[in-house]
Amino acid sequence: MQHYYNVIIIGGGISGTALLYELAKFTDIESVALFEKYKTLASINSNGRSNSQTLHCGDIETNYTFDKAKKVKKTAKMLSNYALKHGYGEKHIFKFPKMVIGVGEKEVEFIKERFETFRELYPYLELFSRDDLASIEPKLVEGREEDIVAMGALDEYCAIDFGAIAKTFVQNAKKIAHGVCDLYLNAEVYQIEKIGDKFQLLTPRGKYFADYVVVNAGAHSLLHAHKMGYGKEYACLPIGGSFYYAPASILGSKVYTVQNDKLPFAAIHGDPDILEKGKTRFGPTALALPKLERYREDSYLEFFSSLKPDRSVMKVFYDLLADDDIRDYVFKNMMYEVPGIRKGLFLKEAKKIIPTLEESDIEFAEHVGGLRPQIIDKKEKRLLLGEAKIDTKEGIVFNMTPSPGATSCLGNALKDVELIVDYLGCGFERSKLESELLEDEVHNSALNRVPGYAVSVG
Ligand SMILES: Cc1cc2nc3c(=O)[nH]c(=O)nc-3n(C[C@H](O)[C@H](O)[C@H](O)COP(=O)(O)OP(=O)(O)OC[C@H]3O[C@@H](n4cnc5c(N)ncnc54)[C@H](O)[C@@H]3O)c2cc1C
Repeated sequence: MQHYYNVIIIGGGISGTALLYELAKFTDIESVALFEKYKTLASINSNGRSNSQTLHCGDIETNYTFDKAKKVKKTAKMLSNYALKHGYGEKHIFKFPKMVIGVGEKEVEFIKERFETFRELYPYLELFSRDDLASIEPKLVEGREEDIVAMGALDEYCAIDFGAIAKTFVQNAKKIAHGVCDLYLNAEVYQIEKIGDKFQLLTPRGKYFADYVVVNAGAHSLLHAHKMGYGKEYACLPIGGSFYYAPASILGSKVYTVQNDKLPFAAIHGDPDILEKGKTRFGPTALALPKLERYREDSYLEFFSSLKPDRSVMKVFYDLLADDDIRDYVFKNMMYEVPGIRKGLFLKEAKKIIPTLEESDIEFAEHVGGLRPQIIDKKEKRLLLGEAKIDTKEGIVFNMTPSPGATSCLGNALKDVELIVDYLGCGFERSKLESELLEDEVHNSALNRVPGYAVSVG
């Protein structure tokens, strides 16, 4: 086993594995290795039980602006192209009807207007009337007095097992790599240090060296950056998300609801669970948690190191909590976790989707739902809502990847490939990547070249 690589990736979630795949397949880098802390790949947030399993294309997510939807659409397409071209259709990526519902006069108008704007970007979108919904998803209209309309699609790939896809990235990377492509499991990187023009990584297997390092360690990425003196202008606020299960007979489509603009996190939705067949999930909730891994209590200290509470962080909290809607939302989300009362309280929220839902229909999904490492920009004193990257321009990059980080894994990886190729001066077969991953995008819009595919913050 060698101890020196051109590139080392830290973290074997969907972000790290997507990068391994792109480097192995589309560059002539001679040696690359991926280090993962646990014994299996994608066991934290990229695991299918930790996230909503949604390929976020931007068509039904009303928390996205038109511009953000455009960017997300491209990266989502990269992932569906990858999955379908490798034969994972109906194995790891699935078609379901999907829609966003508008309820009551104001939301109905909002959906109708949004439909007119967004159909340009998504020609397959349809507007569903109450009668349409009565045959597509009868439970959306049963017992509902208010007006309802939805926009969505009946035949699109929209559900994906990100954890399974992460594993295929590594299998395929190892199969096609012309150079060395190594995977180390049970290999936590404890420390990274720059020595001369190389990076030295301390691991349980000893010291490893690299010319370039990409840290895709989820909520731990910022902690590593801070330890090396980078990204001090950012703090990490981990937001846990839980789910409730209902029988699949209640809902067979992905059903999103209209976002309250004031709220920092997406409204709850209903989704057929692709791993627990026969169940529909409602969620996720949004609960600030003082740890960097959802189910590991010993990450409290790490949380404080990466939050680094100071006046700017406090100002962000103060501003958020000064708003009645947000205060109410934070409180409600805390209560959704409290055994004994949580089911009854969450039911009220879920009834916005299925009015006839009863407490006996739902159960708290134990040990389901991960953490979103949301980033606070201390300089701007605001909470950032998308992914963030710290590019040091010194041979090391740190990626923070809350939602839709799994959907945009190949787009984010492409940004890193470009940085690595520039820094190391190695070869990159861009046209090969474009024809595999960006086929439709390239054909549909020759002007849309690669820069900007990775959705950065916002
Ligand atoms: C409730 C919820 C719902 C979500 N729903 C969606 C959705 O529907 N669609 C979507 O696109 N996104 C969704 N997301 C976001 C998505 O899950 C993440 O963006 C994505 O999984 C991030 O992948 P990652 O590889 O960057 O991080 P992770 O999956 O967290 O992987 C990081 C990896 O790094 C490893 N690691 C950490 N430290 C070290 C170290 N020192 N050494 C070695 N390895 C290390 C960890 O063990 C882990 O395997 C959701 C997230 C949550 C919490």
